Amino acid sequence: MARESLKQKQERARKILRRLRKRYPDAKCELDWTTPTELTVATILSAQCTDRRVNMVTPALFAKYRTPADWAKVPQETLEQEFYSTGFYRNKAKNVRALMARLDEEFGGELPEDFDVLTTLPGIGRKTANLLWGTIFGHPGLVVDTHFIRLSNRLGFVRKGEKNAVVIEREVGNIVPEKDWTDWSHAMVFHGRRCCYARKPDCANCPVADLCPSAQPAAPAP
Ligand code: SF4
Repeated sequence: MARESLKQKQERARKILRRLRKRYPDAKCELDWTTPTELTVATILSAQCTDRRVNMVTPALFAKYRTPADWAKVPQETLEQEFYSTGFYRNKAKNVRALMARLDEEFGGELPEDFDVLTTLPGIGRKTANLLWGTIFGHPGLVVDTHFIRLSNRLGFVRKGEKNAVVIEREVGNIVPEKDWTDWSHAMVFHGRRCCYARKPDCANCPVADLCPSAQPAAPAP
């Protein structure tokens, strides 16, 4: 693909999003939740774990612990056991307890609707803050996870090999209009999980292959 101007990249991104919206009309966060506290816990548990596994673990937990105050009171060892199957259970238990204690003590048991404050909370980095920002509060957010990073590279929207999430968020944020950031994030995850796989992208069935500089040619017929 020839060198592109910013305007050309923006136009290509617009077409890509239009096609991915059509392919994945129900694209959304795939973690199960009903309250901001539940989504916050589920998001922390999803680090290095599949959403499917998290969704198997959380219903029993959400039935037992409802508010940040409930979560903050659970002993570390108990939470470690409850989180065990999601991996990194010690850190996750530590972060959930510290986060929930802060929400209870400093924010009246609510998640603060302030992006900068969100990023200062235990266990919440920019990626999680953007997810909560978009999914709970409805503000545009770019959730730069592993799928987002891989697809930004393959689609040629960042310098080849770029892995720095902050750089990628900034570059893609210039290409995709702010009002579409949340949809774009969901589209990247859905496409990454269902077609543009990490090991072997299914370019032959990709709706944006003609717009992708990394599209692999179809294998010749035997
Ligand atoms: S053409 Fe291939 S590499 Fe490009 S987005 Fe589609 S599946 Fe991914």
